[in-house]
Amino acid sequence: MYALADCNNFYASCERAFEPRLEGRPVVVLSNNDGCVVARSQEAKDVGIGMGEPAFQCRDRFDRHQVVVRSSNYTLYDDMSRRVVRSISEFVPDIEIYSIDEVFLDLRPLGNPVATSLCQTIRDRVKQWTGIPISIGIAPTKTLAKLANRIAKKDPTTHGVFQLPKNDPDRALALDSVDVGDVWGVGSRWGARLRGLGVRSALDLARMPVEDLRKRFNVVAQRTALELRGVVCQDLEDVAPPRKTLVRSRSFGDMVTNFEQLSEAVANHAVRAAEKLRSEGGTAGQVSVFFSTNRFRDDLPQYHGGGTVELLPATASTPIILREAMRLTRFAWRQGFHYKKAGVMLGDLSFGEIQGGLFNTQDHEHDDRLMAALDEVNRKMGAGTLRPAATGVTAKGWRMKREHCSPKYTTSWRELPFAKT
Ligand SMILES: [Mg+2]
Repeated sequence: MYALADCNNFYASCERAFEPRLEGRPVVVLSNNDGCVVARSQEAKDVGIGMGEPAFQCRDRFDRHQVVVRSSNYTLYDDMSRRVVRSISEFVPDIEIYSIDEVFLDLRPLGNPVATSLCQTIRDRVKQWTGIPISIGIAPTKTLAKLANRIAKKDPTTHGVFQLPKNDPDRALALDSVDVGDVWGVGSRWGARLRGLGVRSALDLARMPVEDLRKRFNVVAQRTALELRGVVCQDLEDVAPPRKTLVRSRSFGDMVTNFEQLSEAVANHAVRAAEKLRSEGGTAGQVSVFFSTNRFRDDLPQYHGGGTVELLPATASTPIILREAMRLTRFAWRQGFHYKKAGVMLGDLSFGEIQGGLFNTQDHEHDDRLMAALDEVNRKMGAGTLRPAATGVTAKGWRMKREHCSPKYTTSWRELPFAKT
């Protein structure tokens, strides 16, 4: 048996976890620069706010229904996600982190009869320990666990945990209640084609001849149908494939026209990328910088600048990566454009290997110790406490628009929540 644990309305639930007064009220979270709706509480869904709707089109409805609007606070969501995962793994050791708010669980070593009650316990504990409500679907394959999770979410009588029935008629009923477009991996494109062939529900898809599916679509569709029949085709992927690149980039809150602001933005991305790389125990053999104008503004001249240099030896040192990123920025900078976006990419990454050999020097060791001290201070005192001056000292126009952002409750001492007595 597999299970899929999925956080309900994750970003909205994170906002609520530290602000209980938001319970029962419609809450939405906006994308970067407060652009579009990317998460909705159930109440916000109920008043007809659509996923992905531009915020400015929703203003009237926000006012009318007193919707609580928040800018996205990924620092908080990432940390809450880690807490949820840690709580779940107290109960089930074999897990696959599928996305920021979804975890697959391998229940096979634990035995069948306990599955529902175990998952009910997990659900209660996660809520108690993190404040995040989750739903769990239990079934013999990952595709079916996804489907069972859908039912757990939609049907209040399940109390958030649903195990797919074992007997044929009940299971068929469950599969028939799910639209074919909502089956994991089918999506809107295949969904439309399948509907054209008279395949409307997950049950119809499970009953299609698999050879037919392979010929008309591909092996993925064939595998999906087999999984819907209860044949395991995908096991847990315990290790994520090592990343090949690490990118930090953002669109600016306002367009940027001067060099100082652009280089500050690039410096911030470089510093954050290097930090992230160290936290994963990696080194980069390459650093790239890119920045560009707004391609939707055809009334303005367009320019894409940037460049790449090799790092030898490979490194995760902030001063080295920053120095190269600044050099690239100076080289590619052109005056007279309105820049909309900038970023830094670290490439040629390696993980967990000792960078031995010819170019390893005393300096390298010194640098490692310096970076370890830097990371430790920032971990204890809050991100950005110690940082290169190139990243700037004041809030500037290039920063993201986040007019409705909640505090970083769990990762910054300065922003800890207060309990009034
Ligand atoms: Mg979710």
